Amino acid sequence: MASRSHRLRQDDKRYVWHPFTQMQDWLRERHPIIERGEGSTLIDVDGRRYLDGISSLWVTLHGHRKPAIDRSIRAQLSKVAHTTFLGLSHPTAIELAKALIRIAPAGLAKVFYSDNGATAVEIALKMAFQYWQQRGGSFRRKTRFIALEEAYHGDTLGAVSVGGIELFHQLYRPLLFPTWRIPSPYRAPWDRARRPDPVERLEALLRRQHDQVAGLVMEPLIQAAAGMLPSPPGFLKAVRSLCSQFNVLLILDEVATGFGRTGTMFACEQEGVTPDLLCLAKGITGGYLPLAVTLTTQEIFDGFRASYGEKKTFFHGHTYTANPLACAAALANLHCFQREQTLKLLQPKIALLRRELKSLRSLSHVGDIRQVGFMVGIELMQDRERGEPYPYEAKIGIRTILEARRRGLIIRPLGNVIVLMPPLSIASRDLSRMVRIVADSIVAATGG
Ligand SMILES: *Cc1c(COP(=O)(O)O)cnc(C)c1O
Repeated sequence: MASRSHRLRQDDKRYVWHPFTQMQDWLRERHPIIERGEGSTLIDVDGRRYLDGISSLWVTLHGHRKPAIDRSIRAQLSKVAHTTFLGLSHPTAIELAKALIRIAPAGLAKVFYSDNGATAVEIALKMAFQYWQQRGGSFRRKTRFIALEEAYHGDTLGAVSVGGIELFHQLYRPLLFPTWRIPSPYRAPWDRARRPDPVERLEALLRRQHDQVAGLVMEPLIQAAAGMLPSPPGFLKAVRSLCSQFNVLLILDEVATGFGRTGTMFACEQEGVTPDLLCLAKGITGGYLPLAVTLTTQEIFDGFRASYGEKKTFFHGHTYTANPLACAAALANLHCFQREQTLKLLQPKIALLRRELKSLRSLSHVGDIRQVGFMVGIELMQDRERGEPYPYEAKIGIRTILEARRRGLIIRPLGNVIVLMPPLSIASRDLSRMVRIVADSIVAATGG
């Protein structure tokens, strides 16, 4: 076994380039090679077991090797693995679309399939843009988008154009379309500077420029990849109301927040908001296969209906659009929510997680603990009284998660923020164990 694991490690270093990874570090380090999963546990090729504290990058909901999802994929596999959605249809995608519309915020009527979060956002942007072009007249001037500072919507160029994370996005500016920005609504506890109110800024911007704005795109309730930055209550509702007032389409990116992560099926439910376009991916298949959807209203759909010769078709699609195996996983995922009352069982676990996290406040380098449902960011600070961050080169987040790994927990940081996103199905004792390991790891990495 040891020799197999050694060979795999060598071949990984020889042939593979990993995402969001400084490969020079990677080539020097030793990382687990995960071979199996069971519930909330991942098992590597050496037989070591780890708690999956980030749901395999925010996707696993009911655990790994969930029998109902495994069965649904196998049943689909015994029929057909793939058939095109261009000019044909298939029962699993039809059933899934119907099930999604049933649970989606009222007013969303149509499902457009794709296969990852960035793409779901690209599709929403293109739909919004094309919708106004086809409305014609002065609406054709509505070509621009508004996005939030610190936003993350994926890594393809359209999604990066509306992204706002310096470190990931700045370099690519010359390749991107221009976007108007409003400030992130999150305010750090140590930040006492006077800052503009984002809702006021949005209103002022829309008053001046609404006739040029096609849509506003944002992550509702919490900006996830920015380091888990929650919005104050009422922010989403205020944005919705301004978008309606100024005839701007609201695009909600619930790629991270969708499917129970914030405690409700979709985050926007918590403020009673329906977007014009809703992007979903990550948890949609329960963490099994790549699938995404962009949901929209009858009104936008009707804006693309015309005679063939008018060329109002939505000219967008991907080879694996609505892949039947992925749709079968997604359908089984939704059934699990229903049958197992996932959201109801989740509530006491969210409360337990909140209680457990309180114990971290006494650690001297924990600056802020942010939690929305089962999404947590723990920001580490060099000096929290003076609001002094750790420098980038200190790699404090990476050092902390390596300590956690030694203690049997897999997590991944966002800069100096330790992210926790356990599977919704995690057992309470594992939830407590996870927070204990995080506490020990922070102490080991920060020295106190
Ligand atoms: C992860 C994420 C994306 C990108 O999804 P991919 O499937 O990685 O392309 C987009 N938006 C948000 C809010 C995300 O968290």
